[in-house]
Amino acid sequence: MAGLNAVKIATLGSHSALQILKGAHDEGFKTICVVTPDRIPLYSRFNFIDKIIKISSFSDFPKIENTLISQKAVVIPHGSFVAYLGLEANKKMKVSYFGNKKVLDWESDRLKQRIWMEKAGVPVPKRFKKASEIDRPVIVKSYGAAGGHGYFFAKNKKEFQARFKNFHAKEYIIQEYVIGVPLYIHYFYSPISKKLEILSIDKRYETNVDSLGRIPSQNQQGLGIEPSFVVVGNSPLTLRESLLAEAFEMGERVVKTSQALMPGGIWGPFCLETIITPEQKFSIIEISCRIVAGTNLFVDGSPYAAFYFDKPVSTGRRIAMEIKEAIKRKQLKKILN
Ligand code: AMP
Ligand code: AMP
Repeated sequence: MAGLNAVKIATLGSHSALQILKGAHDEGFKTICVVTPDRIPLYSRFNFIDKIIKISSFSDFPKIENTLISQKAVVIPHGSFVAYLGLEANKKMKVSYFGNKKVLDWESDRLKQRIWMEKAGVPVPKRFKKASEIDRPVIVKSYGAAGGHGYFFAKNKKEFQARFKNFHAKEYIIQEYVIGVPLYIHYFYSPISKKLEILSIDKRYETNVDSLGRIPSQNQQGLGIEPSFVVVGNSPLTLRESLLAEAFEMGERVVKTSQALMPGGIWGPFCLETIITPEQKFSIIEISCRIVAGTNLFVDGSPYAAFYFDKPVSTGRRIAMEIKEAIKRKQLKKILN
């Protein structure tokens, strides 16, 4: 593939597109945003987007792939790629794609994901294979659920059985409900420097679970309120420095294990979604193998990115920096699929 001037950075207009394209522009790339008609007014507002390609719905993405290929575009996947295009469409994409598609199967299957985490020696919440085994509060999650939709909470076996009758997911996992602070660690692994960075950390704000504490429990009684976990936004957070060493080590083990499990392993941005208990123990509830929306807080850099770079670096910009470095070293193929 050609040099920096020829390669363009492209993504779908959604999720973290603004951050990705701003970062690409700041690193000197031309940018392309693929958008549905309703979002054209939004993405037209910003000068760092050089070209807008219209599609009538996200599922029409394959129809404009050849245009992207002719533009020498590198596509940066984000949360909407799997959520709106689906796993198979991602795997079949012909246009250059930043990241390793081999991780997609390991990520989308919650049991495979668990094997990966366990092999990496990162703590995961207890899993209940059968309802009869439930002996504590649990959360039931369907596969591929995004943004906390399609989950339910049960405080014991009896409640599980009552709620399960109205749960229609084909594939799901029953997990111990870990009480603690949810914390999302945004990593970046560079296959070029072979180093792992923590670029930022966020905490999600979820409705209604994060607002239940505003009504004292005696007033909640009789209201029949069920906790739900639908994400509405994110807040920044820095971790107690004493917990940071473990955060790095967990990330490094996850990368190393991925290299043993799938050819090439994971590279680029990923996120460990953790809950920290009062004993200051991490519990990893999920891995997201791409840029996560919580990084949108840090378009202008973060308290962690500042330790590596003398300029404001978001995850979006970090991706562009990696592509630039790969072009310089003639290793672009190594970081694309
Ligand atoms: P949207 O761009 O809001 O349509 O979201 C695209 C996908 O990303 C959906 O699957 C959302 O559930 C997920 N998503 C969007 N924003 C967030 C967020 N702040 N945290 C976690 N997931 C998100
Ligand atoms: P996820 O889609 O796995 O990121 O989960 C969405 C939200 O559900 C999280 O941000 C948590 O608030 C909640 N959640 C998921 N798994 C657990 C768990 N094992 N224990 C407690 N809360 C959880």
